[in-house]
Amino acid sequence: MFTMMNHARLNVGLEGVGIAERAYQRARAYALERVQGKPLLSGSTTIAGHPDVRRMLMDMKARTEAMRALAYFCAGQMDRAAGHADAQEREQALALVGLLIPVVKGWCTDSAQGITSDGVQVHGGMGYVEETGASQHLRDARITTIYEGTTGIQANDLIGRKLAREGGRTLKALLGRIDGDARRLAEMPDAALAQIGGVLAASARALGDAADWLLAHDDQPAQCAAGAVPFLRLAGTVIGGWLSARMAEAATAQLAARSGDAGFLGAKRATASHYAAHVLVQAPMLRDIVTGGAASTLALADDQL
Ligand SMILES: Cc1cc2nc3c(=O)[nH]c(=O)nc-3n(C[C@H](O)[C@H](O)[C@H](O)COP(=O)(O)OP(=O)(O)OC[C@H]3O[C@@H](n4cnc5c(N)ncnc54)[C@H](O)[C@@H]3O)c2cc1C
Repeated sequence: MFTMMNHARLNVGLEGVGIAERAYQRARAYALERVQGKPLLSGSTTIAGHPDVRRMLMDMKARTEAMRALAYFCAGQMDRAAGHADAQEREQALALVGLLIPVVKGWCTDSAQGITSDGVQVHGGMGYVEETGASQHLRDARITTIYEGTTGIQANDLIGRKLAREGGRTLKALLGRIDGDARRLAEMPDAALAQIGGVLAASARALGDAADWLLAHDDQPAQCAAGAVPFLRLAGTVIGGWLSARMAEAATAQLAARSGDAGFLGAKRATASHYAAHVLVQAPMLRDIVTGGAASTLALADDQL
């Protein structure tokens, strides 16, 4: 039922997740060992006590967890599309897989560039030289946005075959689910979940606005294509943020039931809050690039580039 290409693209997306995870593990281990300067955070004696190093580690962790959740969610939909007893469920899952595959491939590998680069930065000068292995992760990540269809090709597939051809139907259905979860979370007494829900609701609106703009301008293919990669980044940011929010909600429920590892579950909540405050808040900015950025992208003649 699925093309070989869908599997190959899912797998390259997972390659981005795997390299990002390894870069995070290496950076975390180094930050907990390297002593330099006077840490501002009490209890820390190493560079992990510098808030900017924390920021990089939290970005790496939060983004990688959202990427992994997106790739697994897509894989789950592939299973549903192949094996669900209900034909309508199979059909809906298949449409969702079609929409998600370019996002998994394009966004997870694109994000791995920044994550592995931050991994080098956490190592300082030791990251730039080869001994630590940090720069090897950056180089390994670099190919993943190129082979099995570059990010530009994934983004064209997303806005063309996956969005415009069906009038945005599958994305709108998914946005309905995201918006429902976001509103529910935003009204919870739990302040952390409410904050995540509020940001998620605004980011879902931004993705809907950008999709509406692309659909309304599909008679201007160059303008739409100019915003294709920002749109793919926006889709990944928001869908990854939705799954991050769901993980936080599930962790909260387990904590309340006193089941599972409290340290791990508390970290899940904090990581999702970081994703909302640092990554998901970028959604309106990406929306503005899609809807207002084409003119400058296309302004210069070839001999002016
Ligand atoms: C290490 C490695 C392993 C590889 N393994 C394989 C393999 O096993 N099998 C295989 O078949 N291939 C393989 N490739 C080839 C790989 O798939 C191509 O390099 C890749 O698809 C990009 O094609 P290209 O190099 O011709 O670049 P180009 O197509 O020339 O792309 C150059 C730039 O133009 C952009 N671009 C091109 N067309 C468009 C468009 N229509 N819209 C928007 N932007 C566009 C691209 O996004 C890119 O930024 C491998 C490549 C490498 C480096």
